[in-house]
Amino acid sequence: MRRTKVVATIGPASEDEATLREMIRAGMDVARLGLAHGTLDEAVERYRRIRRIAAEESRRVGILVDLPGPKVRSGSFGDSNVDLATGARVELRVGRGSSDASVIEVDYENLLRDMKAGDRIDIGDGRVVLKITDRGSDRLTATVVNGGVLSGRPGIHVPADRLSAPTPTSWDLKALDAFVDLGVDLVAISFVRSAHDIRRAGTDPHPQGPLLVAKIETRAAVENLAGIIEVAGAIMVARGDLGLECSIEELPHLQKSIIQKCIADGLPAITATQMLDSMITQPTPTRAEASDVANAVFDGSSALMLSGETAVGVDPVGVVRTMCRIASRADEEFDYEGWAKRLADLRMTDGSTRDSASVTDAMTMAAWRASSELGISTILAISGTGFTVRSMARFRPQARIVGLTHNPRTAQQISLSWGTVPVLVDDKGSNDEMVQQAVRVARDRELVRSGELVAVLAGADNRSRSANVLRLELVP
Ligand code: PGA
Ligand code: MN
Repeated sequence: MRRTKVVATIGPASEDEATLREMIRAGMDVARLGLAHGTLDEAVERYRRIRRIAAEESRRVGILVDLPGPKVRSGSFGDSNVDLATGARVELRVGRGSSDASVIEVDYENLLRDMKAGDRIDIGDGRVVLKITDRGSDRLTATVVNGGVLSGRPGIHVPADRLSAPTPTSWDLKALDAFVDLGVDLVAISFVRSAHDIRRAGTDPHPQGPLLVAKIETRAAVENLAGIIEVAGAIMVARGDLGLECSIEELPHLQKSIIQKCIADGLPAITATQMLDSMITQPTPTRAEASDVANAVFDGSSALMLSGETAVGVDPVGVVRTMCRIASRADEEFDYEGWAKRLADLRMTDGSTRDSASVTDAMTMAAWRASSELGISTILAISGTGFTVRSMARFRPQARIVGLTHNPRTAQQISLSWGTVPVLVDDKGSNDEMVQQAVRVARDRELVRSGELVAVLAGADNRSRSANVLRLELVP
């Protein structure tokens, strides 16, 4: 069974019913809806379609709505390739008209105010690099530092410390409202700079509201990571933009340290962008990509993300299958002992405050220890908000985690949690009833077998704020 989850972006290549169904069957755990293209109504329709197909397939597929933030785009270069030669001079103007090799229109109103001579601008994920040489009253003049070929409406990367526009944007907040009304599971916020940007979403805390995923893709976010972890529900190592914000040799190490800090605090971490990029056009990945996927698993990623590979690629279903295969194989080689030992030093709380988080922290550690010492292969974690499940998952136990909850939203949100099978159960009152139901449901679903020993984590009753009871039970 695969432990590392797979997130796949839905786009023109994958939004039809047959493809979505096959992607779910191939192992997609979470569907990511990008909002950068198309209308809000179209996105809502895709959302409803995914929900319906997942229900028909009896699968719990989380839906992650990704708010684009102040994503800057150029006016269209048209369908054919436009060559920007190294050393050439170009002008940048604010507007939404068409672009060519000498004038590029940019759909960002503050462009002239935010940028200064000497600043760098990347176009199309860094395919073309410009250096601003002069700021006029109605245009920026730039030199092409790295030339390349552009088509369509490539993204323009304005350095985040220059960008004055807030995130989430007012458009993001409008889209967020629409999806909150629909009961969306997970919402990603782009270009986050501090905890404040996450708070600006203004949603109810999860599971009532969506689990908020902070995309770490600015230098400020890396610097303010501790604060962001306190208020976010999960994080994404958004390597596309982060790779433009920092030097490329820093990126692999930032990936590792960001993931470690998040998991230690019980937040799922998604590794994203260019994981199987060559499969946008090719049937098989490069060797380097296969290694990148496996190494992202070794780094401790809870989930791996596909972007263009499934949104616009030639074979979205094949990419999901390939990623699942590489991830499953890497899961087998994961250094479980080493991870847990490191994590024992990186506790969520210092135990000095006797709050519910400290209790869950200690009890999940106890469950990890008991399951590894006794060779228990399944941990049943009964959880109202998903906190117990995420706390359990951070230890990366060799045992499979079954996350049982009576809250449908929680069940959807833990679809992102490493190694966890989400299961919806009835609300029971006492610990005895909860445990009996959990064991029965897990046995009926053939997740555990009669006669085997399981670990069950739960509250003393359904009003408990922490998982304060650990039981080791023989499955009847
Ligand atoms: P994006 O975010 O695909 O929305 O830009 C991911 C990234 O920057 O890596
Ligand atoms: Mn990005």
